[in-house]
Amino acid sequence: MKNGNATGKRGEKMTDMPKIVRQVLTALESAGYEAWCVGGCVRDTLLSRHPGDWDVTTNALPEETLAVFGDRAFPTGLQHGTVTVRMEHQAVEITTYRVDGEYHDHRRPEHVTFTRSLEEDLARRDFTVNAMALDLRGELRDPFGGREDLKRGVLCCVGDPDRRFEEDALRILRGLRFTAVLGFSVDPATGASIHYHRELLRDIAAERIQVELFKLLCGVRAAEVLREYVDVIGVFWPELLPMVGFDQRNRHHCYDVWEHTLHALEAVPADPVLRCTMLLHDSGKPACFTVDEKGNGHFYGHPEISRDLADGMLRRLKCGTEFRETVVRLVAWHDRDIPRTDRGLRRALRALGQEDLGRLIDVKRADNLAQAPEFRSTQAEIDKAETIMERLLSENACFSLRQLAVNGRDLMKLGLSGPAVGRTLAALLDQVVDGELPNERTALLKWIGKRKS
Ligand code: ATP
Ligand code: MG
Repeated sequence: MKNGNATGKRGEKMTDMPKIVRQVLTALESAGYEAWCVGGCVRDTLLSRHPGDWDVTTNALPEETLAVFGDRAFPTGLQHGTVTVRMEHQAVEITTYRVDGEYHDHRRPEHVTFTRSLEEDLARRDFTVNAMALDLRGELRDPFGGREDLKRGVLCCVGDPDRRFEEDALRILRGLRFTAVLGFSVDPATGASIHYHRELLRDIAAERIQVELFKLLCGVRAAEVLREYVDVIGVFWPELLPMVGFDQRNRHHCYDVWEHTLHALEAVPADPVLRCTMLLHDSGKPACFTVDEKGNGHFYGHPEISRDLADGMLRRLKCGTEFRETVVRLVAWHDRDIPRTDRGLRRALRALGQEDLGRLIDVKRADNLAQAPEFRSTQAEIDKAETIMERLLSENACFSLRQLAVNGRDLMKLGLSGPAVGRTLAALLDQVVDGELPNERTALLKWIGKRKS
């Protein structure tokens, strides 16, 4: 049973293994070495999920791997034993079996040593479900019971959780990320250790936290993981903590601020911008809480406070400017009434653009769904806004300077210059967006002529 069989001798599914991976495994085996797919691709294959990337591990030393693949191999990470093989515009990373040396800074091993034992390599990996290897024939190596944990849907450290999180604190967040994405539960000892070691996350670079956090937020069990591990997320985002258990004392709400947040987060599509917006949209509420003479709670100005908190939190995690600005804008807008007229929606399209208005509609829908049941009727209003927006877009309604039937050059031909060009274009767009003028060249030029005279 060589390449391409649908199942291997142990019955593992092989259909997903890409051709290049099979070629790499075959070449290494033909040269007399052991070669296995390992880690996330094995886990995902066994779960019938599409693997993000395929990693190969081998007992060949890096220079031996380089010799097997000749000019198709590149020494991309020799100090860790990694060689990248490129074929037909695809790439596979091949790493020599290795054991990690001492960890001193809760981040990376001081040094790595190569080994000829696959089991030793699997033992350095973080979780049992990530510590399996699969070969060309579908043979599975699973010394830590990863297969069983996959079946049970349990995330469990390889070895002693305390030691594993002390070695590398990023594993704390990786663990929560896998739990949220795979819809797993956490083994009790692993879970207790995650809580206990949460402060070690302070040693981890913001960029690495950011990657794991956003994957976590898009997971099917994101809300449950955030509910159970808010103390962990609170290490780098302490602004979330005052929301937990914060009673809103308002008839619109049946949940405290944090529970409302989690319900709203679950109600938006699994997209990092939307999930992050919902996580942060009410973060400013605890800071502006007031109670009126009837005992009702209010949160005047909370969108602006949430906006400023969100901005600071996203900067701290070194998020990209576009991502941060989008989330911040949606947080600032989340509590505004959604327009339900052509003019109102054209104005909103002008202010936010098509993509972000679409997102704002998702945000408003989710925010409303997470309120008390008797106040969820706003859904119909949001649906109406969305229908109007879609019609305007299908009619190619004008809401941006780019779409205007005249441009700066037209205005300069009419004798305008300098800032007057931009000002006049903006004024024209106002007129068109407000329905005062049709977006037609003659009408627009005529209007300018009148204004000049
Ligand atoms: P993804 O689906 O995000 O690719 P993955 O499990 O493949 O998930 P990678 O970061 O691609 O994660 O790492 C590949 C494998 O390397 C993991 O499955 C795991 O076996 C091992 N690994 C990665 N990071 C660590 C770590 N911090 N500690 C221990 N093992 C790790
Ligand atoms: Mg991977």
